[in-house]
Amino acid sequence: GIHRYNSTAAAAEEPITPPVTVPHTQLLINGKFVDAASGRTFQTLDPRTGELIANVAEGDAEDVNRAVAAARKAFDEGPWPRLPAFERQKILLKCADLVDKHNDEIAALETWDNGKPYEQAAKVEVPMFARLFRYYAGWADKIHGLTVPADGPYHVQTLHEPIGVAGQIIPWNFPLLMFAWKVGPALATGNTIVLKTAEQTPLSALYVARLFHEAGLPEGVLNIISGFGPTAGAALASHMDVDKLAFTGSTETGKIVLELGAKSNLKPVTLELGGKSPFIVCEDADVDQAVELAHFALFFNQACACFCRTLASAAALDLVHSCTKKYTTNLLRKPRRVLQDAQSAIHSRPALNKALRYTSNKSFLTLTNSGSANFLKAGRVDSEQFEKILKYIRSGVECGATLETGGERHGSKGYYVQPTVFSNVKDDMLIAKDEIFGPVQSILKFKDLNEVIKRSNATRYGLAAGVFTQNIDTANTLIRALRVGTVWVNTFDIFDAAIPFGGYKMSGHGREKGIYSLSNYLQVKAVVTPLKNPAWL
Ligand code: NAD
Repeated sequence: GIHRYNSTAAAAEEPITPPVTVPHTQLLINGKFVDAASGRTFQTLDPRTGELIANVAEGDAEDVNRAVAAARKAFDEGPWPRLPAFERQKILLKCADLVDKHNDEIAALETWDNGKPYEQAAKVEVPMFARLFRYYAGWADKIHGLTVPADGPYHVQTLHEPIGVAGQIIPWNFPLLMFAWKVGPALATGNTIVLKTAEQTPLSALYVARLFHEAGLPEGVLNIISGFGPTAGAALASHMDVDKLAFTGSTETGKIVLELGAKSNLKPVTLELGGKSPFIVCEDADVDQAVELAHFALFFNQACACFCRTLASAAALDLVHSCTKKYTTNLLRKPRRVLQDAQSAIHSRPALNKALRYTSNKSFLTLTNSGSANFLKAGRVDSEQFEKILKYIRSGVECGATLETGGERHGSKGYYVQPTVFSNVKDDMLIAKDEIFGPVQSILKFKDLNEVIKRSNATRYGLAAGVFTQNIDTANTLIRALRVGTVWVNTFDIFDAAIPFGGYKMSGHGREKGIYSLSNYLQVKAVVTPLKNPAWL
């Protein structure tokens, strides 16, 4: 049935504009929307209110089997991998055009299901989604092997072939962008896909996947399973007919899916996992800008790369504290601002940054997780993440860190936590060590460069780092010494389609986005042919 967004029923926090309907709640298998084989459904809830948005088909192992069979057939017999690359390119460009055309509905659906600010979805994330598909459409007809020299009379070439059926599992914090990072390169390289969305946010993927079929994607190429991790997710990770797995989520689940992949058919697995990113503010930094960006980084949305460990040079510490106070006060007091100039925001970097900053002011409530007791059956409740964050905050207080601001639940509905800042944090406190995945910032003091390098790297994670300094030598030293997949220097959160993203250490395996992601979805075949009477070798 059609579910209509009812603005009076939702909390006043974030009115969703425009009103939106939920046209698709079934699984998408072989180009058709179908019920789960079991007939079961689960609830997806509005995180602002905890109220029901829709009942969604709950896929499990049997549905994964059906979807993988469809993807297998589409790969082995269907047109997609056999199309001239520029035909695939045309379809991907059309997908991007349709997403642009339906920007407002898609953004509203994403907002409703995930709880993020509407402007963030409409002005930043949906346009980024379309941009990413255009970027990978550009690659589709530029993928080719090499001619390779041999030691004897042989013609040697490499063929870059699609890897086959890709299984993809994504989290709830950026449902559309996580879809794009995985589906974009997989389609451009001619693969077929079974994607499992996060159980908290199943809706936007179904909508865009239907648009992709309108754009001409053949049936069976992109199958979408809504459902839970231990059932649908595990079935996908351990499926014998899935040739490659790409996962984004927590480090704990990453270990599980890697093991499932190894135990079944040794499928290659790329992992984008958790982080505990350091944000290093040197004494010569533009501290005001640094702190503003740190705030944005942490409080705009729940992101894996957020800077939750601010390491401030002893000389800059006081300024860091006073700027932090200023931005946090702004964050808590400022009424939500309308993004008047957001229409142009996407077209220029300064305007985009401005829009993002407004968004960050606006989004002073950070979503912790959506849904509620319906997740009990998957061994997970929605308030679980919320409680976990509050527990970390309590542990910070108990260990003697100074709670500068926040620390409480925001409001009485939904699952929101106030932006929380601790100072006087020590490295061995849990708030400085664990990924909290909530709006909790720790400020720590450092003395010199060697010390800050050691302490920044003394974590099992290695996703990203921020470096603020005006000294090019300091910057260059830190850039090379930090064991992380991304270093942002005097900036933050630049996530263009061409910039690779991924982690060192327990933040993951492999890279997504950019040219690097193509190799996740390609096999390399070496072909050797003897040369008879070659004129040259
Ligand atoms: P999660 O690991 O609980 O869930 C992620 C996905 O895995 C969901 O679709 C879930 O259903 C599925 N899943 C859960 N158990 C599974 C199992 N046993 N087998 C197969 N699939 C299973 O993570 P989450 O709490 O939803 O997301 C937050 C985490 O994601 C954080 O740790 C965050 O840092 C990380 N993250 C990382 C990146 C990145 O690019 N590195 C981006 C976004 C989020």
